[in-house]
Amino acid sequence: MARRILVVVVALLAGVALVAVLIGTSGPAPRSRVQGPEPGSRGTAGGTTAPAVAAGHGTPAHPVGDHVVVGMAATADGGGYWLVASDGGIFAFGDAPYLGSMGGKPLNAPIVGMAGSGPSAGVSGYWLVASDGGIFAFGTAGFQGSMGDRPLNEPIVAIAPSPEGRGYWLVASDGGIFAFGDASFLGSMGGKSLNAPIVAMAGFRPSAGGSGYWLVASDGRIFAFGTARFQGSTGGRPLAHPVVSMAADPASGGYRLVAADGGIFAFGDAPFEGSMGGGVLNRAVVGMGATPSGRGYWLVGADGAVYALGDAPYEGSVGVLPLAGLTVAVDPGHDGGNGGDPAAINRPIDGGGFTESCDTAGATTADGYTEHGFNFDVAIRLEALLRAEGATVVSTRTTDTGVGPCVDVRAAIGNGSGAAVAVSVHADGGPVGGRGYTVIMPAPVVSPISDNRSIVAPSALLGTDVRDSFGSDTGEPTSSYDGQDGLITRDDLGGLNLSTVPKVLIECANMANSTDAGLIETPQWRQGAARGIADGIRSFLTAGLKV
Ligand SMILES: [Zn+2]
Repeated sequence: MARRILVVVVALLAGVALVAVLIGTSGPAPRSRVQGPEPGSRGTAGGTTAPAVAAGHGTPAHPVGDHVVVGMAATADGGGYWLVASDGGIFAFGDAPYLGSMGGKPLNAPIVGMAGSGPSAGVSGYWLVASDGGIFAFGTAGFQGSMGDRPLNEPIVAIAPSPEGRGYWLVASDGGIFAFGDASFLGSMGGKSLNAPIVAMAGFRPSAGGSGYWLVASDGRIFAFGTARFQGSTGGRPLAHPVVSMAADPASGGYRLVAADGGIFAFGDAPFEGSMGGGVLNRAVVGMGATPSGRGYWLVGADGAVYALGDAPYEGSVGVLPLAGLTVAVDPGHDGGNGGDPAAINRPIDGGGFTESCDTAGATTADGYTEHGFNFDVAIRLEALLRAEGATVVSTRTTDTGVGPCVDVRAAIGNGSGAAVAVSVHADGGPVGGRGYTVIMPAPVVSPISDNRSIVAPSALLGTDVRDSFGSDTGEPTSSYDGQDGLITRDDLGGLNLSTVPKVLIECANMANSTDAGLIETPQWRQGAARGIADGIRSFLTAGLKV
């Protein structure tokens, strides 16, 4: 039976809120502990050698599927490392033994990080931590308690092992620290005002004894506790990409920060051994680990790519699907029942500072092929392509026989889905003599119910990417009658005005034109249209260093 002591530390400084520290003194919690290998999740170790820098990028050793890699931990002697995915899958490389995983098991919350169990040579174990504070211990890593069944103000974002490896600290995005086992509570940022969320932490074990830790925020600010000394930060300097992780230099007492683009910031006596900043990454860096010599470190991306720098050996990597972990909102314009329900469709809605109708029936070709049917068919094909690349897809309608939803609701579906990007699929009813496609991008519109200014710039990038790929995948010319080079910016569409995620609307062709009508009525052309939109979305999402 586990014994738990709840210690409430009353901070003495004025204005500092209560910090609750939960210390688990012994005993496993059965539902949080799993041991034993799962062959299906095993990463094959060893046997792979490659150049030390940036090797493995684009050469996945193991397909992971639709779960992103979220962190890594190095072995005590620096001869290998583990990678962990958001579903708790573990991949072991070099001298890092596979000791079990949570892959394939139900989790209450996604895994967000991992830590090796100790600095001593020969110790083999690791902990995984979920965003709800749940801990999963493997190998010699002892379960010392968790926050998995306790309320948190903010999610857990990282774990760091104690100096002796018989405990660990968890840190939440608000800087709250939770200490377990022999890890000492040495202070926290919980209850204090932060300019940016905490994203990572690192423990420090000085040779003279004692212990300490650093917290790092996404703006690069460092908060030092215990024997961990403040040695500088990027706080206050504008960063092109947020800081995402950090690692202590066990040799010098310095530390290094890594940004999402692979840029490295070294402080104290931690040597700079190179970075990936300015390089070409498919997905953002999410974690790092350091070698015991202090002369090298690894970076890992959300796509499972491993970048070995300095004396850190490259021992292999995994590859996840290009859109794994990302949600895309797909909006097939209009609906099959709209034409038969004018009362519903003509109902006025607030499109962001002006009144427009709920929706319309859409266009039709001369021989009766409907736009709603075209939009829905292309959307189904697009959704399949996006899912095949690992994305989660949310659609504004799943049949072609209903009425609506209204355009404001369609925007809300995208906004509420956690989507990284949204796209509306349409075909135009233009002048009979005009051909081609147009990508419509949002202009900045601020209204009492909306403010889309933050999406204008990324939507313009998305629009350019979709414009480029749509043309090359379909052979369709850009519109001869609308916009410029296949692009136009508008402020009179509720679906764009009301969006809070980067969004574009594509008019794939002109249904009123006989040449375009003949093309879009073929399934082959519609598949190319779906491919064109999917390719543009992937270009946008991967170039943007999305986690
Ligand atoms: Zn339309």
